[in-house]
Amino acid sequence: MVIKIDNEKCTKCGLCIETCPINIIRMEGDMVLMDETRCIKCKTCVGVCPSKAIYIK
Ligand code: SF4
Ligand code: SF4
Repeated sequence: MVIKIDNEKCTKCGLCIETCPINIIRMEGDMVLMDETRCIKCKTCVGVCPSKAIYIK
């Protein structure tokens, strides 16, 4: 299981960046990216995203 960000759906609201407990989500240019190797799969970002742009694969 991995957590993925769909940048087509993402509105760059920044909520996931603010709420990830280990601060591994970042804005890079116009992309919201996550350090998948460090993700603890807590799903906080999935629940907080108002655009359903973060999903579980
Ligand atoms: S699942 Fe948790 S640790 Fe992983 S990116 Fe989302 S909020 Fe951060
Ligand atoms: S919470 Fe969702 S819409 Fe907002 S920046 Fe994160 S992925 Fe994009």
